[in-house]
Amino acid sequence: MIDPDVLDQDFPTYLKTIAEFTENELIPAENEMVEAGEVPARILARMASLGLFGISIPRAYGGLEWSMEQQVRLTLEFTRASCVYRSRFSTVIGLCSQAILDHGTEEQRRRMLPSMAAGELVTAFALTEESAGSDAAHLRTTAVRDGDGYVLDGSKRYITNAAWADAFLVFARTSESDEGAGGVSAFIVDAASPGVRTALPTVMNGHAEAPVGEIYFDGVRVPAANLLGDVEGTGLSMALRGINHARLHVAATCVGQATRILEETTAHVLGRKQFGAPLADLGAVQATLGACFAELEAGRALTVECARTFDEGAIPRHRIAAAKLYSSEMASRVADRCVQLLGGEGIVGPHPVPRMWRDVRALRIYEGSSPVHERNLAKAMIRQVATDGTLPNSYRV
Ligand SMILES: Cc1cc2nc3c(=O)[nH]c(=O)nc-3n(C[C@H](O)[C@H](O)[C@H](O)COP(=O)(O)OP(=O)(O)OC[C@H]3O[C@@H](n4cnc5c(N)ncnc54)[C@H](O)[C@@H]3O)c2cc1C
Repeated sequence: MIDPDVLDQDFPTYLKTIAEFTENELIPAENEMVEAGEVPARILARMASLGLFGISIPRAYGGLEWSMEQQVRLTLEFTRASCVYRSRFSTVIGLCSQAILDHGTEEQRRRMLPSMAAGELVTAFALTEESAGSDAAHLRTTAVRDGDGYVLDGSKRYITNAAWADAFLVFARTSESDEGAGGVSAFIVDAASPGVRTALPTVMNGHAEAPVGEIYFDGVRVPAANLLGDVEGTGLSMALRGINHARLHVAATCVGQATRILEETTAHVLGRKQFGAPLADLGAVQATLGACFAELEAGRALTVECARTFDEGAIPRHRIAAAKLYSSEMASRVADRCVQLLGGEGIVGPHPVPRMWRDVRALRIYEGSSPVHERNLAKAMIRQVATDGTLPNSYRV
């Protein structure tokens, strides 16, 4: 349940609450989380009572209803801590709640969103399959109409929060005649349904404390009332609408991570002496830090600008894709250079920078991998210029 005091806070007060929570509780608990191999239960309870599961959900459904720019500003704060914390509520605030909000029936919104906002009902977004990753439209999980419901068969992999979710938003094929996006529908599936099984991977390279999982559906009965929006065949467009939120959250996460990495690394080179002086006195070290800072601020500016445009009513989806692409590549580049500046400490021991270096790598792969974004952006540019000579989401007046 969200603390009633938090529900009363205006945005500047709430932002300060989250900044203090990050500094005083999330960052100090990082080593404990790594040693335990999971996010401590008391931290999860605090995240729920502080409303982090509900930042994007409207007040009418029990959430905090912050604007996209406010969500981005919050993300910049709480992702100064390990991005593993965020992944525990990311599927609720981004992909799942947004799809239910934008496309669910009123009954589905009322049934799901208040407990999602309170952190009492965790949802996972189940799209990716073994044979359908970047090419999600060709997924093979099926949902066959049977009496007053559907029967689901198939499997999903790489699903964030699969092991902890109370419900999944599952994308499945309802039409055999349409093998592409038009045959895909979305379903709310209770994780406790007979025939549902989840499994965790044996190895995670990064994000080890919040591993992704596999989900198997073996003749799972789903009531017709759980077909999202009560409409078949539009599942993928429902998924893509929410993906714009999630991509902006990821872009902000990359900026938050790079901020902390640069804070930690600058402190390190100030304190570490070689050749009789701090590493920070070396021109080569300064050049690296300055270049990283410029790239960090470019990522921040692009992300915040996209969020502002979003709040004005138009979803600048190409610029959002660019923000996600640029910021995720930037965070990885910054992390890699900073590991170099740490020397042996970047490889040996519990320093947070190498842990974040491993964690940010995944951000270039999910919510659209970097090469897929590059390809899609180029295709949109070519199409648009051929039509009217402008670039996608053009600033031209
Ligand atoms: C930590 C993590 C969390 C995730 N969470 C979720 C989740 O909650 N829900 C969910 O449904 N999925 C999730 N995913 C899955 C993620 O969306 C997929 O991994 C991603 O879409 C890529 O699919 P794939 O892994 O099958 O790679 P593939 O599709 O096999 O692609 C591999 C690589 O090939 C290249 N490539 C592929 N297609 C193209 C193209 N058209 N043009 C240029 N290059 C291309 C890219 O370099 C790409 O990285 C998660 C993944 C990770 C790593």
